Amino acid sequence: MKISDLTVVTKDSDTYDQARKCWNAMYDSRPDEIIYCKDSKDVSSAIEYARDAGKQFRIRSGGHGTEGYCSVDDGIVIDVSSIDHIEYVSDSLVRLGPGIKNRKVNHVLAERGQAVTTGTCYDVSVGGFALGGGSGMLSRTLRSFTRSVVSMEIVDARGRILTADKDTNPDLFWACRGSGGGNFGVVTNFTVRAHKIPDVVSYRVMWPWQHLETVLDRWQHWAVTDDRRLNSYFTIMPQSVGWIDVGGVFVGPQKEFEEYLTVLLRETPPSTERSVRTLPWTEAAEVIYDKVGGGLPEFHERIRSSNLTNNSSNFLDAEAIKVLKEHHAKAFGNIWTWIWAAATESDLSSIAEVERDTAEQFSFSNRLTLLSVLTRAGWKDPSEDARHMDWFKDFQKSWRPYSSACYVNWTDRRIETRLGHYFGDNLPRLVEVKNAWDPHDVFNFPASIPLRVTADQARRWELSDDVVQKLKDNGRFVDSPAS
Ligand SMILES: Cc1cc2nc3c(=O)[nH]c(=O)nc-3n(C[C@H](O)[C@H](O)[C@H](O)COP(=O)(O)OP(=O)(O)OC[C@H]3O[C@@H](n4cnc5c(N)ncnc54)[C@H](O)[C@@H]3O)c2cc1C
Repeated sequence: MKISDLTVVTKDSDTYDQARKCWNAMYDSRPDEIIYCKDSKDVSSAIEYARDAGKQFRIRSGGHGTEGYCSVDDGIVIDVSSIDHIEYVSDSLVRLGPGIKNRKVNHVLAERGQAVTTGTCYDVSVGGFALGGGSGMLSRTLRSFTRSVVSMEIVDARGRILTADKDTNPDLFWACRGSGGGNFGVVTNFTVRAHKIPDVVSYRVMWPWQHLETVLDRWQHWAVTDDRRLNSYFTIMPQSVGWIDVGGVFVGPQKEFEEYLTVLLRETPPSTERSVRTLPWTEAAEVIYDKVGGGLPEFHERIRSSNLTNNSSNFLDAEAIKVLKEHHAKAFGNIWTWIWAAATESDLSSIAEVERDTAEQFSFSNRLTLLSVLTRAGWKDPSEDARHMDWFKDFQKSWRPYSSACYVNWTDRRIETRLGHYFGDNLPRLVEVKNAWDPHDVFNFPASIPLRVTADQARRWELSDDVVQKLKDNGRFVDSPAS
């Protein structure tokens, strides 16, 4: 098949400005062509075309990546948004195209009383979401999305259409389970195990902002429980907004949840609002979508987001909570921080076992994160950019001592340490997979996994001595400043 058989939007097309948009308007790339693919063969042709033309290309499923890595100036966007199939192949195995959106996944699986972990925005596509690990309001119960993936179809750098699963191309399968999209190939199908889900308890409790310190401290110990049915978040709004809240989903009977909640309420100051309802999962998901997209002022055009989190078993101490409080006292507009309880106590107490159990299966290095801390801001007016960037810079400087990791799905191109913090000890193995599958680095973007690491990068990315030694042992470390 030739590229002329595909729909291609160019700079001359009437639809160009609409077609080139990223969800985050901070990124305004002007690619030469956007090639719309309907299946793996189209993707293969598009890769061949881009390579023959000697142009950089990027992959786009939903375009919701917060740093705009799905597009590139003067290059080619390979758009797979219309590869959006969703079909059962057995009672619990579902084939999902990368272009399918979270909300649709919830609804189709719910027809059989099933679910997988989907994210907190209805419009995010499975493509980018799944490749970065995929966490959401069911991820303590059902674990990350990538854990449910049993097989992928991938078009590689040479345009070959491959299967990756635990027996076929296992290294590629491992790498694509959690190290982020855009690195190794274009995924055109995920075969996923769906899980039974009963009706769930959707809950939300609000307190006046001044109780932030007490409630956050109590909440973290309450939410990190061994009971995987409890999924919970904590929101910190700017002081001027006046409230903080706790919410989430409990996958069990309402009566049992109310007993849990009584414990939290006993240990915290009086709340101002409380809602506890049993709902089908699809409706509970809508409550979360409203919170992320609509419940707070508006769905924004310009976004700054950053996940600076802790990959160890530490709870937030009084100093860390004070930093959060001080910066949110100065916050404005639609700046807010979302903290998710991620791992459980038993994950942490038997951390070595869990590591052994899962390290071979997933490259998702944040799978043992205790508390995942995401800070986000949204605004419309470009003249407000500097003010928001300054707030983030200031906050990140103060927050730095309390964070040791970043979640690759909430990528942040301004964090110098990003590759070290995204991939941790997995980096040397990921570099090996990169060399095996993409030796000419055609899947390249500003935060992609490199073929080699320079001494300067190792320093900036704060790579551990062990990681550097492994890179050296594998011949992937260069002492010169340029790679
Ligand atoms: C409002 C909002 C809420 C979010 N909530 C959550 C959440 O709850 N949990 C969570 O885990 N994440 C969440 N995210 C982050 C989101 O999962 C990631 O940004 C994800 O990468 C977006 O996927 P996409 O396909 O829509 O984006 P895109 O911008 O199209 O892709 C993102 C990256 O993946 C690459 N990529 C895309 N498709 C493919 C493919 N088929 N094959 C190979 N590489 C590909 C792209 O090149 C790009 O580098 C949220 C994002 C937003 C904007």
